Amino acid sequence: MARCVGVLALQGAFREHMTALARLGVAAREVRKLQDMDAVDALIIPGGESTTIGKLLIDGGMLDPLRKRITAGMPVYGSCAGLILLCRNIEDSEQPRLGVLDATVRRNAFGRQVDSFETELSMPVLGVEPVSAVFIRAPVLTSVGDNVTVLAQINGQAVAVRQDNVLATSFHPELTTDSRIHSYFLTFTV
Ligand code: GLN
Repeated sequence: MARCVGVLALQGAFREHMTALARLGVAAREVRKLQDMDAVDALIIPGGESTTIGKLLIDGGMLDPLRKRITAGMPVYGSCAGLILLCRNIEDSEQPRLGVLDATVRRNAFGRQVDSFETELSMPVLGVEPVSAVFIRAPVLTSVGDNVTVLAQINGQAVAVRQDNVLATSFHPELTTDSRIHSYFLTFTV
């Protein structure tokens, strides 16, 4: 169990992740600058706008140090824009990224007509009860490496994956009261 979970608080839905962690009684703190990272044993990267978060990570000198921490084994969970930032390949984009997740992502994969939706998703790693998944201008993973475990999919495309210490979902569990994905992430060893 992590001692203190950081939530990257540069842009996006970081407050909702803080609330989800508080609900679980977990020590958490917002991470806004490089020094904040020293105090955390795990990190959540929220949804928002991946190009903006990526730019702010570079401006704050945090992108490379964060990548090093993750490569050294720090547990990290990215939801939506957070997932995009974790991916090695982003279709049709040169935007900044951490590139630690061996996968290719397509941004805004559900198209303009389906800007956002909520669906019941089977995610066996969390138990038999499906998870209520909120998708907002969400990405999908169009391919994943052999070392990546697919935890949930829609129309045959991965929307939740794990690669060792890296967890990523296309959807936003922090916008529901179902804490199981956060609880699952907290089982990742530090
Ligand atoms: N479409 C956004 C992006 O590409 C992600 C949306 C979200 O995080 N809800 O960064």
